[in-house]
Amino acid sequence: MQWPKVKGTILFSPRNGQQEEKALLHAARLLKEGELLAFPTETVYGLGADALDPVAVSRIFRAKGRPADNPLIVHIAGIEQASELVRELPPEAALLARYFWPGPLTMVLPKSERVPDICTAGLSSVALRVPSHPLALRLIRAAKVPIAAPSANISGSPSPTTAAHVLADLAGRIAAVLDGGACSVGLESTVVSLLSSPPAILRPGWVTQEMLEKILKCSILDLSTVDNKDDKQGPALSPGMKYRHYAPKAPLILVEGEGDDQRSQLLALTEGFVMQGRKLGLILSQESKAFFSAPVVEILGSRNDPATVARRLFNALRRMDYQGVEVIVVEGFEEKELGKAVMNRLRKAAVKIIGSESKGGVLWTKS
Ligand code: AMP
Ligand code: MG
Repeated sequence: MQWPKVKGTILFSPRNGQQEEKALLHAARLLKEGELLAFPTETVYGLGADALDPVAVSRIFRAKGRPADNPLIVHIAGIEQASELVRELPPEAALLARYFWPGPLTMVLPKSERVPDICTAGLSSVALRVPSHPLALRLIRAAKVPIAAPSANISGSPSPTTAAHVLADLAGRIAAVLDGGACSVGLESTVVSLLSSPPAILRPGWVTQEMLEKILKCSILDLSTVDNKDDKQGPALSPGMKYRHYAPKAPLILVEGEGDDQRSQLLALTEGFVMQGRKLGLILSQESKAFFSAPVVEILGSRNDPATVARRLFNALRRMDYQGVEVIVVEGFEEKELGKAVMNRLRKAAVKIIGSESKGGVLWTKS
C-alpha cells in the first residue's frame, strides 16, 4: 500500500480495518528498525521509539530538541509487561493499574537494568503507562517491545492532539505518523511517583488527586506546583517540571480569578491591545463569549465542562500561532479536579499571570 508522505515523513491514515492492519505492521517494523514513529494515544500524540534501543531513543531527543535530562514515559500493553522493566512492583502500583490502566495514568517506579539510562535521563526510576487508545495498544503488541514516547511536538511547544499538529512540528524529522483522529483526553497523563510514601503527583492530569486517594485510601502529595526550576542541587523530582512547556510562539497572558474581577481584567487587557493595534488572540470560556471581541477568538467550552476545555486547549493554543496573533490573552479556569491540569498547562505556557487576589495586579512575570 502506498501511503502519502509529507517532507519524507510517511502519513499512515488507515480508513478501514484492513488498512489499519497494514499500517500497524509497517509502523511496528519501523519501530523495530530503530526509527521514530508518532502515534495516537488518548492523551496526546506520542513520539515513539523502541525503549530498549538506546540509539533509537537518542533520536527522540534529537528530533524534538528535548533536553537530555528530561526522562521519557515508557508505554506498555499491560501490567505483565512491567515486570521486566521495574525492580519491584509495589502493591499500590498493582491496585492503581487495576483501576486506571489502560488509561491516562503514568506511574514512576524503580527501574530494572533492562531500561537504558538514556530513557530515564540517568534516573534509577522509570515512568510507565498503558495507553487506552486501541491503535496505541495494538501498535505496542505488534512491535513486541515497550515504546518510549514523549509528546510528539518540538520541545516547549503545545502538545499535539491531531496528526496534523504532529506534521506541523516534525514532518521531515521522523519516519512516520499514524493518524488515529483527535485525542479524546487532550492533555498529558497524570504522573504519580510511587517511590515515596505517600505517593506524590508530579504532573496533574485527567486522573485527579481525589481519584487516586479514593483508590489507595490514603492522602497523596501534590508536588506538581513545586517549582524546581532553579533547583541546581540534586536531581529534580520530575525533571520535566522545570522547563517552560506547551507555549505558543506569541506571548501568553493568563488571567486568573473568577467573576467580575476576572472579567474586568480581561476587558482592560483586550481593550488595551486592540487600541494599540496589536493582533490579539483571546481564549475564553463559553460563558464569556458574548462579552469580548478580538481578531481571533477561541472558545474552549463551558466553565462547568472541564473535560471539553481540556480536550480543546492545545488545539486552541496552536490555532493562535497558525493565525499569526501577536499576543494571547487566556481566561483562567477554576482549579479543581481536572481544572488543576488545565491550569497547570496554562501557567507553564504563560509569560505573565494576572491574579484577582491582588486586585488585578500582576502576580508575577516569568523571566
Ligand atoms: P512528556 O512525555 O514530555 O509529556 O513528559 C513526561 C513527563 O514524565 C515529564 O514531566 C517527565 O519529567 C516525567 N517523568 C518521566 N520519567 C520520570 C521519572 N523516572 N521520574 C520522574 N518523572 C519522570
Ligand atoms: Mg511533552
